[in-house]
Amino acid sequence: MPTHWCPFCPGSGRVPENYDVFLYANDFAALRLDNPPFEPHPGLFATAGARGSTDVVLYHPNHNLTPAQMSADHWLKVIHLWTTRYQELAANPDIRYLHMFENTGVAIGVTMPHPHGQIYSFPFIPPQVERELASASEYFEREHACIYCRLLTDELSDGRRIVKENESFVAFLPFAGRYPAEMQICARRHIPALPDLREKEAQDLAVMIKSVRMKYDNLFGFPMPLMMILRHPPAKGEHPYFHFHIDFFPIQRSATKIKYLAGVESGAGTFLNDTVAEDKARELRETEPA
Ligand SMILES: [Zn+2]
Ligand SMILES: [Zn+2]
Repeated sequence: MPTHWCPFCPGSGRVPENYDVFLYANDFAALRLDNPPFEPHPGLFATAGARGSTDVVLYHPNHNLTPAQMSADHWLKVIHLWTTRYQELAANPDIRYLHMFENTGVAIGVTMPHPHGQIYSFPFIPPQVERELASASEYFEREHACIYCRLLTDELSDGRRIVKENESFVAFLPFAGRYPAEMQICARRHIPALPDLREKEAQDLAVMIKSVRMKYDNLFGFPMPLMMILRHPPAKGEHPYFHFHIDFFPIQRSATKIKYLAGVESGAGTFLNDTVAEDKARELRETEPA
């Protein structure tokens, strides 16, 4: 990344001269909508076309603004752009899953400081998502209830892991988080995806994202390197068992230590976490903004 030039900045010739939020086609696309269709072949060394898309979502024209510094009104513009693009891509017959996320921070490997997120559309359901969907769907069949609604009810009545609430969303630390300050923003109403949000809910989500991001950056006094993942059901079909939420994976264990995915995490898929969610939730609750 050159220090004197950024393609995402107005004036670069790559983006409009004036924009609030902007969808930018990834210069290094891992998936393309005009690739050959996805047809898994039998055999150990088979390959298949990577048909899909990789968008960069430019959050703001200001290169130096952090996501936490963006106003809630501006976050609402990002949510509207996410929603429009979700609907467009979900309608594409080749697309089976929309993975909307943000990587932030040099420690995560981000080369572009300009505030942005990404949208990958896949011709398949990614494996980690598939596992969550299978688990939620199995619970729904067995209990005739949404596991996320039940989790939220139980979290609210327990209260110890709640970080922030508003009328439409609740932010809490999962009981068994993988990262010390892992957080989830969960919709209060049982809705599967972004396009199901009412306008008031979209506004409340913008406020909630802004608060959570500020809390993260204030926790250690520097912008928290993190991944923000929007959780959706598959793009096609009905998924009554699924409930929209956002996961945050901040990789900082403390102000000076990073949580590495070492032998036990990478090799066994088992996360070691040296903090308890109740303590971390209290710390984050007490961190500004209240
Ligand atoms: Zn820039
Ligand atoms: Zn639910």
